[in-house]
Amino acid sequence: MKFRSVKGMQCPECCGPVEVRHVRLPHFACPHCGLALCVPNRFLTAARILGAGLGLVLCYAFDMGGIAFIVGPLVGFFLIGSVLAVPLLVIAPPELEKNFHIRRTLGL
Ligand SMILES: [Zn+2]
Repeated sequence: MKFRSVKGMQCPECCGPVEVRHVRLPHFACPHCGLALCVPNRFLTAARILGAGLGLVLCYAFDMGGIAFIVGPLVGFFLIGSVLAVPLLVIAPPELEKNFHIRRTLGL
């Protein structure tokens, strides 16, 4: 079985390596060129869906019935998903995107 080499995150502008400790949500500056970067929303959504699934499994494992099957995935979506995003940044580094949401002055 052949594993693909794990390529870390890198800046789309300067191609400099970006480590997990540099990453902030919702956006952060590239440690090399200062460009505003963000983790793609689809990555965070995937982490939250995974968290929701984990929340559901935990509720089932602890034999919590009824309302827990609604609360578990909800808590998992927001809480476990956000926590899961950190190791996922290492295991499956996303392609960072330029953050277009930051409003800048028009260079004035
Ligand atoms: Zn950069």
